[in-house]
Amino acid sequence: MSQFWSPLAASLTPYVPGEQPKDKSYIKLNTNENPYPPSPKALEAIAAAANSDLRLYPDPTCDDLVCAAAEHYGVSPRQIFVGNGSDEILAFAFAAFFNPAKPVLFPDITYSFYKVYAKLYDLQPKLIELDESFEIPLEQFSGEHGGIIMPNPNAPTAKLLPLDAIRRLLDANPHQAVIIDEAYIDFGGESAVSLVDEYPQLLVIQTLSKSRSLAGLRVGFAIGSPELIDGLNRIKNSFNSYTLDRLALQGAVAALQDAAYFRETTDRIIETRDRVMSELRELGFIVTDSKANFVFISHPERAAKELFLKLREEGVLVRYFDSPRIDQYLRVSIGTDEEMDAFLKALREMLRQ
Ligand SMILES: *Cc1c(COP(=O)(O)O)cnc(C)c1O
Repeated sequence: MSQFWSPLAASLTPYVPGEQPKDKSYIKLNTNENPYPPSPKALEAIAAAANSDLRLYPDPTCDDLVCAAAEHYGVSPRQIFVGNGSDEILAFAFAAFFNPAKPVLFPDITYSFYKVYAKLYDLQPKLIELDESFEIPLEQFSGEHGGIIMPNPNAPTAKLLPLDAIRRLLDANPHQAVIIDEAYIDFGGESAVSLVDEYPQLLVIQTLSKSRSLAGLRVGFAIGSPELIDGLNRIKNSFNSYTLDRLALQGAVAALQDAAYFRETTDRIIETRDRVMSELRELGFIVTDSKANFVFISHPERAAKELFLKLREEGVLVRYFDSPRIDQYLRVSIGTDEEMDAFLKALREMLRQ
């Protein structure tokens, strides 16, 4: 608490990202980064953009990237918003669409940033409880409310909702914004982008951070009706006209266009994930059915926190959430086959003791 903080700053409970340690080199399976490098074409485009033009401001309307994204998603440029990572777009969306006079609905176990944004904008979150197997009770997302947000696949549970479930959610909620955060959709899900023409209340948010290996570039997309995109632009242009820098704009276009590299690396991650899931089950772990680039696991006889700390000692970082209902779980990002073998080996060693 500081005398210089505004009442707002004093009231916040900021998000705590997974650690990015600098003390030694770990096998980093704690922040859902992609283990493979970005597309070489993206790296070339970024290098080429590092030139004397950096003295100039970037394009405030990001036209080239908006057009590339429109082509990629098969929509019109008026249905695309680009942002400095999808977290920024989420923050803008909370401000643009959610009604503070009514509860904003999201699952009780979900991306923990949602609660932080709700607090920042003085919204009233209403947490909808997942069942014991972490299924989202979609029928409870209805009635009078000020908007809906959920990730699909959900994080950290890794569980996917099929497209027809999203369609039912939209049919039941035509009058408020419904935001689907598809940070992990490329690892086995079917995107709701195909529904944006039909449902003007639907905003789909995606990112280059996970499936495109560009967490360090900070680029995200929102796809939705022109009226939703205009809403996001109203907030953005009241905040920062230049949210994407020149390097990010160029790198993102090249990354979106390199479909072959994207397919190859995501397929590899999916294959590794499925193998790791079955090996973990053989070791006695409860493993949710993951359609993401991470797995969510619990061992009936071992405390998750203890496994987390021991893995850390062995040089393997995973994510442990000390929160109700999930404090016996670990979230483990999918690395390369070699990294996952080292993780499994360390686990086997621990379970033997
Ligand atoms: C990683 C993640 C994001 C944030 O992605 P950035 O584009 O890197 O800001 C958003 N939502 C969920 C559910 C995530 O896991």
